[in-house]
Amino acid sequence: MKVPFLDVRSAYVELKPELDQAVARALDSGWYIFGEEVARFEKAFAEYTGTRFAIGLGNGLDALRIALMAMGVSEGDEVIVPSNTYIATWLAVTQCGARPVPVEPDAGTLNIDPQRIEQAMTSRTKVILPVHLYGLPAQMAPILELARRRGVRVLEDGAQAHGARYRGERIGGHGDAVTWSFYPGKNLGAFGDAGGVTTNDAELADRVRTIANYGSKVKYVNEVCGVNSRLDPIHAAALAVKLPLLDAWNARRAEIAGYYRRHLQGTSVRLPVAHPDCESSWHLFPVFSQRRDALQARLKGAGIETLIHYPIPPHSQQAYRSLGYGKGAFPIAEAMAETELSLPIGPHMTLEQAAYVCEIIAGFE
Ligand SMILES: *Cc1c(COP(=O)(O)O)cnc(C)c1O
Repeated sequence: MKVPFLDVRSAYVELKPELDQAVARALDSGWYIFGEEVARFEKAFAEYTGTRFAIGLGNGLDALRIALMAMGVSEGDEVIVPSNTYIATWLAVTQCGARPVPVEPDAGTLNIDPQRIEQAMTSRTKVILPVHLYGLPAQMAPILELARRRGVRVLEDGAQAHGARYRGERIGGHGDAVTWSFYPGKNLGAFGDAGGVTTNDAELADRVRTIANYGSKVKYVNEVCGVNSRLDPIHAAALAVKLPLLDAWNARRAEIAGYYRRHLQGTSVRLPVAHPDCESSWHLFPVFSQRRDALQARLKGAGIETLIHYPIPPHSQQAYRSLGYGKGAFPIAEAMAETELSLPIGPHMTLEQAAYVCEIIAGFE
């Protein structure tokens, strides 16, 4: 049996007539920037996430950068980020000329540890930027309480958390803003790069929109030095077709995750910890093993594709050598990079495939 890590084409196959029709409609309209398709998806995504505003953008990294710019982050500022995240979270901060200040995760939930944030804050801290890693929401209540007390903003990286819930509410409106990626491999994916921001703050929404469009509201009148990062109508049309399926697709992911949980109990791998306040979108299903590389090789030999999220933490990347963090600076993030393995999961994976993955892991000593 072959088990691919994630088969993104299956979502297209499932919805082919509707998707073909929507993309054809976008092409036929003769309107290839902004327009009705984009407005329709923005409205639907705002409704889905329970927020007042959704703004479509070019990709998830731009969404982070533009949201930080809209919050006034610039040179000399500091932004609290997780020590364990995809590098985009950090890149957005340094693209604004600010400094990422890493905070270690809770070793159980793998999300930024709220207890460690305050000691990392200084008078220069402008924003706390939690990531809902692997689809599990971060502990928003203590983070929001701290931010309110210290007068800083909260921007959430929701790139892996479409449809995830914190205390019953979908990710989207807890902090000041949430950034999204609609990269093809995300839970809600376009047919190329796409992203967005959701917020309940009208002023912030307006600034995000302006910055993303060359810093301009009126054509050829530029208020600020903006960027060009807009959601393409073709992608918006496709995303609007996929959005109504997101909850059903996430439920299928949860079924696979539940199966893994039950059947990997008592094997050599450590499982992700659940939290009663959080309902994961199960973007990824991470397990941890001291013999991770051998386990990955064993699974590969059995036709099972796995990935590592992420093999090198941002502070150890050559790109961030100038920040001056040596080995051992963030031991929890470093240990995760050495032991994490993401098992196949997705809405089009079968329980038979999950059973096969569990069987191979159970046989690995
Ligand atoms: C995918 C991802 C991003 C970046 O999104 P792109 O659309 O690829 O730019 C940012 N943060 C996290 C946590 C991600 O997983």
